[in-house]
Amino acid sequence: MSDSAPATPITQDVHTIPRKLPEGDGRANLIGMTRDRMREALVEAGVPEKQLKMRLNQLWQWVYHWGVRDFDAMTNLSKDFRATLAERFVIELPEVVSKQISADGTRKYLVRIAGGHEVETVYIPESDRGTLCISSQVGCTLTCSFCHTGTQKLVRNLTAGEVVGQIMLARDDLGEWPVPGAPKREDRLLSNIVLMGMGEPLYNFEAVRDAMKIAMDGEGIALSRRRITLSTSGVVPEIARAAEEIGCLLAVSFHATTDEVRDKLVPINKRWNIETLLNELREYPRLSNSERITFEYVMLKGVNDTDADARRLVKLISGIPAKINLIPFNEWPGSPYERSDWDRIESFADIVHKAGYASPIRTPRGEDIMAACGQLKSATERARKSRREIEAEAGLNG
Ligand code: SAH
Ligand code: SF4
Repeated sequence: MSDSAPATPITQDVHTIPRKLPEGDGRANLIGMTRDRMREALVEAGVPEKQLKMRLNQLWQWVYHWGVRDFDAMTNLSKDFRATLAERFVIELPEVVSKQISADGTRKYLVRIAGGHEVETVYIPESDRGTLCISSQVGCTLTCSFCHTGTQKLVRNLTAGEVVGQIMLARDDLGEWPVPGAPKREDRLLSNIVLMGMGEPLYNFEAVRDAMKIAMDGEGIALSRRRITLSTSGVVPEIARAAEEIGCLLAVSFHATTDEVRDKLVPINKRWNIETLLNELREYPRLSNSERITFEYVMLKGVNDTDADARRLVKLISGIPAKINLIPFNEWPGSPYERSDWDRIESFADIVHKAGYASPIRTPRGEDIMAACGQLKSATERARKSRREIEAEAGLNG
């Protein structure tokens, strides 16, 4: 828990690097291309077959290892080839519109993507790691009743470039690209990724998969698949595919121990209920050669937080290598639930722990800047909503 009163958050506009979005000039953005796609692009640009492998590696490393945005800085490529690349391609990230820094060091970026839409990306520094929480969609098709994003309709899926671009813009902000000649840093500021921002990642499967493949590539950003966690509300038909094609760690928004309650909290449960979901999850660690599954469980006062719930939970998941992440509910303006009391959360955690499962209670981070999980919503949507609220209060609409 962050008990201390939050200091005034720092908000600043970020205009360090000009980042015009490549709308309209016809050049393709290299950011977001997988190795296969970049190879094809180089073939189209006339690179002869026998140079292809070398050129691809060079370009890949400039873009994803060194974080270079200017073809002229790619000094091991000939001037002519650099000019050819610049004619055909751009290297552009989504634009950071504003950055807020919480009293606890959490950073929230408001990120504008093509079409003028906005998503949020959150960086959470901890003593042993730095986690970036990234978004996969603008809004969400699902309508989990405790989630702020769920009150915003799906606007569109992010592209692979916009997903991996969030990692790259955070590395820009943290100043974390390697410097040629400097000793390699072992401690990474951005060491972990969680797909726990806006949207349901398994409803944007291909883009998320391609972006994570890029992030995992050893000659680029080089994050281990064990440091990437994808959180799903329970899109059962895509879970095995995620194991096979992405292979990262999996977290599941479980949140209830009966179908009756889960139907209300996570409405996708009406399509794939608890039993169907658990049957599918039993396969995941085997298919992905992966470690434990994280069961996320939001603590809602009087809704899902009894000792009986805790006992049912451990019974339900028995046999699945699991850890249970208890998330104190993060309130947002107009949210219909309250956070469970602290002693209730601890009592629940205790039962789960005694049954042999790790049961960490997630510390809410960045609450003073509305950056805690489940609070993300695009600022424009929020502004629109509050205008509506203001109008309602003034009796203007009815
Ligand atoms: N769509 C995916 C990932 C994004 S949400 C999913 O649902 O899993 C990331 C986590 O935050 C999920 O476990 C989600 O249920 C949880 N969450 C959403 N709103 C919350 C809130 N207001 N307080 C606490 N956790 C919340
Ligand atoms: Fe969408 Fe996840 Fe929020 Fe549910 S919890 S509405 S799936 S973002």
